[in-house]
Amino acid sequence: MEDCLFCKIAAGQVPSDKVYEDDTVYAFRDINPQAPIHVLLIPKQHIASSADITAENSGVVAHIFEVAAELAKQLDLKDGFRIVTNSGSLGCQSVLHLHFHLLSGRQLQDQMG
Ligand code: 5GP
Ligand code: ZN
Repeated sequence: MEDCLFCKIAAGQVPSDKVYEDDTVYAFRDINPQAPIHVLLIPKQHIASSADITAENSGVVAHIFEVAAELAKQLDLKDGFRIVTNSGSLGCQSVLHLHFHLLSGRQLQDQMG
């Protein structure tokens, strides 16, 4: 999508601190980290949010979770981590391209909301 920040990051048109890339998935460090480890995992194809996951595009979502598990090993997150996706305005989604936050490196709060 033309004016989508994360489409541009996945295409290399906007710089990012990349931690992983393959044909369908791109992962990079969040510009405003909320924890010592804060990686964003995105599909390269534009999917606006988790509300737009369908039978046709859910394969890449499954793959994102495989990549996240692999990154957790590479980043030595054996004590745990959290994967979060925000959706829509009540969910505080600020970038309208599906992304999963991978957070770790400190004790995370037990409150989710
Ligand atoms: P959301 O609020 O939509 O769940 O998450 C969007 C995330 O994208 C935020 O954590 C924000 O810091 C991050 N972000 C926004 N713009 C950029 C950018 O240009 N580069 C990087 N690396 N992260 C960004
Ligand atoms: Zn996009």
